[in-house]
Amino acid sequence: MKTENIKMQKSTMKCSCGAEFDTLSNKDVHNIETCNLCHPFYTNKVGTHKKTGAVEKFNKRYNIED
Ligand SMILES: [Zn+2]
Repeated sequence: MKTENIKMQKSTMKCSCGAEFDTLSNKDVHNIETCNLCHPFYTNKVGTHKKTGAVEKFNKRYNIED
């Protein structure tokens, strides 16, 4: 296993929501899109988005409650 080029160092994760937290990685800074503070799985905001997809239009047209 080749491990000599891998250097673990303290690294800062920067989320698009503005949250930052430290971890160990091989890069100084990571720019990430979601973190535990803004991901819907953790924020419990699943289902609050406005539904405008094809399935919703179909259900609305035929009066199907989901
Ligand atoms: Zn975030």
